[in-house]
Amino acid sequence: MKEIILASNNKGKLIELKEKLSKFGLNVISQKEAGIDLEVEENGITFSDNAKLKAEAIHNITKKAVIADDSGLEVDFLNGEPGVYSHRFAGPDATDSDRYNKILNLLKDVPDDKRTARFKCSICYIDEDGKIQFFEGVSEGKIGYEPKGDNGFGYDPIFISENGKTFAELSQEEKSEISHRGRAVEKLVEFLKN
Ligand code: IMP
Repeated sequence: MKEIILASNNKGKLIELKEKLSKFGLNVISQKEAGIDLEVEENGITFSDNAKLKAEAIHNITKKAVIADDSGLEVDFLNGEPGVYSHRFAGPDATDSDRYNKILNLLKDVPDDKRTARFKCSICYIDEDGKIQFFEGVSEGKIGYEPKGDNGFGYDPIFISENGKTFAELSQEEKSEISHRGRAVEKLVEFLKN
């Protein structure tokens, strides 16, 4: 089974990517499982900049196949914020609920038609020879008025997806079908199959 290192310590992402890629005979292991203790500074200004920074850092150490994803939520009413700052949006020690409650507060009294938002994901894949490829995915939706659902991670409970439920109300499989990361991974899989 071909092994790919995920340049991330995010458990939610690892679960999603493992599930999706194992069907194609690819074994995704975390950077921790690969024995690497590294937190890469994400100082890029786009999702793909940050994905590349993370993937390159791990590839330079291991010389193995690596994937890194950078993703985030763009809220139209907030002019695209939090975007690449999705993780840091409510300060360094914030929890997922601190972050999504901040968005809910900023959108308090904002009407339905102005609550449009999207998740974006850029995956950077570096193969054993150091060749770099990018795969992008987008999932459109709206910000709800209160958190709903217990699945997923991050902003999932407040993101009403294109099927009318929040990402946190969907099973892992249902979310993967329509999520930004699922869509980017789909493209990565197509590429790896060829
Ligand atoms: P990063 O890609 O590790 O920099 O993290 C981006 C941040 O965006 C995460 O910490 C989450 O807060 C948020 N995010 C990214 N993808 C998702 C998702 O699928 N659901 C909910 N939140 C997400």
